[in-house]
Amino acid sequence: MDMSGPEMRLCKLCDKLLPLDRFQAGSKRHCCHEHIKELAKFYMYGTQEKRAVNILRNRAARDMALFGPDKIHLSQREMIAMLNADQITNFSKWCIMPRNPTEPLSLSNSAVVLDYQRKYLLATWKFRKDKTEYEDRLNHLLSPEK
Ligand SMILES: [Zn+2]
Repeated sequence: MDMSGPEMRLCKLCDKLLPLDRFQAGSKRHCCHEHIKELAKFYMYGTQEKRAVNILRNRAARDMALFGPDKIHLSQREMIAMLNADQITNFSKWCIMPRNPTEPLSLSNSAVVLDYQRKYLLATWKFRKDKTEYEDRLNHLLSPEK
């Protein structure tokens, strides 16, 4: 019989020796239950973030082709920075549009809008290709007192 108390294992993330029942049974991982959950959340969010950015980027690339070719100067990291948690989770409802449709999409020339607002803006542009009209409508959509 082991008289030294419960068997202990090091959780590398707690950086502490913990009783074995804090680890998944049979697992040799040096990571306690709590930390396994935390890591799972981290990886899930990482995947979600990438998926959201890829889809929003593809959609933006298709839209920018209407405004002019080769018009995205926005990195994935910049896209992640401009999106909030709700926009990353519910990315299918959101779109990134240029503020000025004749300039490349970039960090300073972009706005996050809802999908129905995007359709309205695209229709505006297709109808007359009027930059001022597009900008006025976008500004109106973005203004808080509408
Ligand atoms: Zn731990």
